[in-house]
Amino acid sequence: MLTAHPGLPEFDYIKPKTLAEASAFLAEHSKDARIFVGGTDVFVRMRDGFWKEKYLVDVKGLEGMKSVSFDPRAGLTIGAAVNMNQIAESAEVKAHYPLLAEAAHSVASFQLRSRATIAGNICNASPAGDTIGAGMVFGGSLSVHGVGGFRREPLDGFFLGPGRTQLQAGDVVTAVHLPLPPKGAAGKYIKLGRNNIGDLAIIGVTALGWRDGETPSGYRFRIALASVAPVPLVPVAAEKILAEKPITDAVIAEAANAAMEAATPIDDVRGSARYRKLMVRNLTKQAVAEVWGRIQ
Ligand SMILES: Cc1cc2nc3c(=O)[nH]c(=O)nc-3n(C[C@H](O)[C@H](O)[C@H](O)COP(=O)(O)OP(=O)(O)OC[C@H]3O[C@@H](n4cnc5c(N)ncnc54)[C@H](O)[C@@H]3O)c2cc1C
Repeated sequence: MLTAHPGLPEFDYIKPKTLAEASAFLAEHSKDARIFVGGTDVFVRMRDGFWKEKYLVDVKGLEGMKSVSFDPRAGLTIGAAVNMNQIAESAEVKAHYPLLAEAAHSVASFQLRSRATIAGNICNASPAGDTIGAGMVFGGSLSVHGVGGFRREPLDGFFLGPGRTQLQAGDVVTAVHLPLPPKGAAGKYIKLGRNNIGDLAIIGVTALGWRDGETPSGYRFRIALASVAPVPLVPVAAEKILAEKPITDAVIAEAANAAMEAATPIDDVRGSARYRKLMVRNLTKQAVAEVWGRIQ
């Protein structure tokens, strides 16, 4: 049972000097150590008694964690300790990935965003994470340092369930990578919350669209839905409709309906399953129509 006045339990603060040291410590203490960066999920879960780790491992001082860089061929690299405000304000993110800047800016309040990171948002694996959809529609991946060295983890297939990912004991995400967006792409993130600041999404719709000479419709859309399934959801049938049929208002409505059909939300304090499903239809229609208006 939750106490009315919870407090943080005691823990040891560990600050490794190298990634090798961090991975070795985390692997050795896989049952009772946890990474934190911004700590905006970790400390709340610890305070509320859901997590009881003996060691909290602060990795934000490690090499390469604090920079954002853009390469015109390789795309964007965001260090794992870069916070949401830095992403939302980055000139390179705003110029090349405005959809990501929009999603980062939608997270809670300025104060929260000065701690919260996109890497933490992704690794926390909440289906409601606001920046996960942008990572997915751009075809993003993670740089992960584990006991065996570095590897890449695509976001496609990364999420296994609420709070569960492909990460293994000893893994430290060092950066989030987004490839170059398709030429002429436009995106939109619509977050439905109970208020305009500081709330998780009741549902979130991320849409990215671009001209594509290889699809029958001449366009391709990537869509990701937040808070409607145990993992961030890609409504594949909706994307297929938009790739295959000449795009009209009726086809956008058909795709939005397919997105609603794919959603399997739950009832909770923020909204009923029925409301969420209907809002997936309405907001997918709105997001896709807005993107379509900008790319045609
Ligand atoms: C008041 C409040 C409002 C919030 N509002 C929103 C909101 O509007 N939208 C939203 O999406 N979220 C929201 N959140 C949740 C939270 O702020 C985000 O998920 C945030 O992005 C987490 O980032 P962090 O750096 O604080 O993660 P942490 O708390 O440091 O870590 C989160 C999880 O990821 C793991 N992790 C972190 N970094 C790494 C790494 N480098 N490698 C491997 N694992 C790692 C941690 O072990 C932990 O399991 C809110 C939280 C609070 C307290």
